[in-house]
Amino acid sequence: MLDTSCVDRGGVHRILIVGGGTAGWMAAASLSNHFRGKDCAICVVESDLISPTGVGEATIPTIRGFNSLLGIDERDFIEKTDATFKLGINFEDWLDDGHSFFHPFSSYGKRFKGIDFHQIWSRGGIAGIDLPLSEYCLAVKMAKLMKFTQPRSELGDFGYAFHFDANKYATYLRDYSLALGVTRIKGHVLNADVNHEGFIQSLNVDIDSAESETKLAKLKASEILDKGLLHADLFVDCSGFKGLLINKLQRKSYLDWSHWLPCDSAVAIRSKGDAVLRPFTRSIASSSGWQWQIPLRNRTGNGYVYSGSHESREDAENRLLTHIGDDVLSEPKHFSFKAGMQSEFWVNNCVAVGLSSGFLEPLESTSIALIQSGLSKLLTFFPDKNWNQCDINEANRQQQIENERIRDFLILHYCLSKRKDTDFWRDITSIVIPDTLQHKVDVFKSKGYLVCYDQEPFERASWLSVLTGMGVQQSGIDSRANGLSDAEVSAFLSVTSSKVAAQIERVPLHKDFLRMNF
Ligand code: FAD
Repeated sequence: MLDTSCVDRGGVHRILIVGGGTAGWMAAASLSNHFRGKDCAICVVESDLISPTGVGEATIPTIRGFNSLLGIDERDFIEKTDATFKLGINFEDWLDDGHSFFHPFSSYGKRFKGIDFHQIWSRGGIAGIDLPLSEYCLAVKMAKLMKFTQPRSELGDFGYAFHFDANKYATYLRDYSLALGVTRIKGHVLNADVNHEGFIQSLNVDIDSAESETKLAKLKASEILDKGLLHADLFVDCSGFKGLLINKLQRKSYLDWSHWLPCDSAVAIRSKGDAVLRPFTRSIASSSGWQWQIPLRNRTGNGYVYSGSHESREDAENRLLTHIGDDVLSEPKHFSFKAGMQSEFWVNNCVAVGLSSGFLEPLESTSIALIQSGLSKLLTFFPDKNWNQCDINEANRQQQIENERIRDFLILHYCLSKRKDTDFWRDITSIVIPDTLQHKVDVFKSKGYLVCYDQEPFERASWLSVLTGMGVQQSGIDSRANGLSDAEVSAFLSVTSSKVAAQIERVPLHKDFLRMNF
């Protein structure tokens, strides 16, 4: 017998997810966990004809919250996805050739007498203390020395994320979802039947097979699966860049941000693993964009994100191959995209999650985090059959603001560069940036205040790293820091840097930490 106690039979209880990439299986895992033990049928349909994008290999710390909500054991996850730890991103050659800075998932030092640490540090500069800000951050020190440990109270508070094999992560979540009663349908969606009110009724699918782990799951799936037609109440579009369903319903045009973020192409290649096993992603500014290097346990993910109007596909591929050298393990894989987002990721009974909802280049590894936050909004505003438009509007509003915050953060990396060596860098450093970003830069330049708007995925410390990393200097400082004496500032800074120096001694190399613990 099905348990019908928790879900109203007139409610939304048949969910069809289209797409079996990272977004599709994250959606399945999240929804099956949420509706665990309830009368809800969830199916994922994925096509053998279209492979998942599979290059989302670097994450930000929110991924840990997602896994933990699912009850996933971190050790098991690390072992099954070839994961390594990520303390942040090292940005090389962004400000100028030979210059680098680190963006850690961590703050710098602690507040003193209620004043932000970086203001005390700036005050220290006036007193002649010239230790760089990074010396006050354990996470940056660990990264520089290729070390890693998980944060414990005496080692300060820092965040971490993972690098992992995207295909293995999708498989991991697929197994998790199937165990919770999700049915996997192998088939190709041919078209969608949309009623006159703009709601999807069913999908016409060329089905190869359906896989359910239990009789109950099979029974539930029969509520969705009707020969070649798939019926559902709610459709989650995880079909990748093409946005198979959302683009059928979308009434408004795509929010195109390519004038601010002109990189529209990428090429990715796998190479042999690196013995050093860096606990961070490398982002290296290049001729018409930037290259990434992501260390996994057994191999390295490499890519070049570039502007197709400034460099040809062949030149981009050669540039990346030259950079990798002899260690290539895979054929180059090419991608094209347009920076921006669907103006509404949720329309009627269709919610777009993942690449179908938009894409901002992977400079700060934010796409998987946006999948998470899209799913979180779906659960927060989970609909009934009244489809309350005010809830849908609020979810759309939040999603747009969040994307805009990330967009501004990404632009910040480019607009302050001093590089003028190619047309790409000359063009990108002369764009007019969004007012929301200009305001943040101006306020920081004035007295070092870090503006934080609502729905900011990145904390103030992240903004501080990139602002200072890209050479922005405060012309004044917080008046309260100004009021401190040289002696108390010097004593406070010295205690902080000594603590970091003492702590770093006890941290093992990242590769040893992995070997000893996983
Ligand atoms: P996809 O992986 O493209 O999956 C689409 C699915 O839809 C597939 O299973 C396909 O079979 C199915 N499908 C399509 N059409 C049909 C149909 N007609 N019928 C049935 N099924 C269909 N994100 C990060 O967080 N960190 C990163 O470091 C990062 N790097 C990236 C680098 C590049 C170059 C790119 C392009 C993206 C990167 N991303 C990154 C984004 C990340 O790859 C995606 O967010 C993630 O892979 C999710 O993709 P998806 O599941 O939405 O789409």
